[in-house]
Amino acid sequence: MFDKVALIGIGLIGSSLSHVMRREGLAKTISISSRSQETLARAQALGLGNEFTLDAGEAVQDADLVIVCTPVGVCEQVAKTIAPSLKAGAIVTDVGSVKASVVSQMLPNLPDNVHLVPGHPIAGTEYSGPDSGFASLFENRWCILTPETSTDRDAISKLKTFWEKCGSQVEIMTATHHDLVLAITSHLPHLIAYNIVGTASDLETDTRSEVIKFSASGFRDFTRIAASDPTMWRDVFLHNKEAVLEILGRFSEDLSTLQRAIRKGDGEYLFDLFSKTRDIRRSIIEIGQDVESPNFGRHEAED
Ligand code: NAP
Repeated sequence: MFDKVALIGIGLIGSSLSHVMRREGLAKTISISSRSQETLARAQALGLGNEFTLDAGEAVQDADLVIVCTPVGVCEQVAKTIAPSLKAGAIVTDVGSVKASVVSQMLPNLPDNVHLVPGHPIAGTEYSGPDSGFASLFENRWCILTPETSTDRDAISKLKTFWEKCGSQVEIMTATHHDLVLAITSHLPHLIAYNIVGTASDLETDTRSEVIKFSASGFRDFTRIAASDPTMWRDVFLHNKEAVLEILGRFSEDLSTLQRAIRKGDGEYLFDLFSKTRDIRRSIIEIGQDVESPNFGRHEAED
């Protein structure tokens, strides 16, 4: 599909893209840039690309497609670094879990002759780094694109085809809508997991060791999410502040209602709510976004 693709950042998502691009023959040349020499050397040892450089500007030279796979908090800095070296007509995209902030960080810093089409694959695991990627990560998962209304139609259509060839289904929406939807489906669940595991880690030493011993009773499923990369998630909350606070407000109200139901012994309320939530789980399995097996398909768990 492309003569040259540049991957800026080569962690879980960048390396998974490299694997799938090579499997599907989507790029003649894959050029890789990372912040540290250590990660770059690892990517080279794993054979993830054809060119390796610490200089993101050098990596994007002559690239038809540039995919920024770094934490969202550094998108402005990346845009400024690559801007002078971008080829006219290049498609610039990203994979960040937040979209409105990425647009405001990147759009003003890119030249007018390139096409910015922000993206977010709704696929991931709690692992990081170039060793953690695998070619099937995006299979049967959604990828959301959030172009501006003025963005070149051909560029959007080409990027859509690219993600479809990576195994994903593509949906297009506004950046703001994306951020609200992801605040409830991804950001709030991560916040709750970080909070529960944080509460447990603050317990007295003897109680804490029992929490770990008896974790199969529910706690361990939160620990998987709470093991996600701290830099990535710090940036997500700092860059999707408004939507997260809005959803968190609703969550807190619902939590207070639950608290009252327990205090008042309102079993009917609890039973009705837990039946409703079970139906949501069933519909997720029905549309193939998770499996029924008891480990929740943990290996290919969702972002
Ligand atoms: P990762 O495994 O931690 O890899 C991050 C990469 O970005 C590394 O190559 C790192 O380089 C590089 N990087 C970090 N800071 C940088 C900086 N200041 N300048 C240049 N490069 C920098 O992360 P990931 O899980 O692939 O996530 C990447 C993006 O994908 C994030 O924006 C995240 O929101 C999004 N995303 C993640 C998931 C998920 O489940 N993980 C799912 C969907 C979308 P060094 O190692 O050399 O420091």
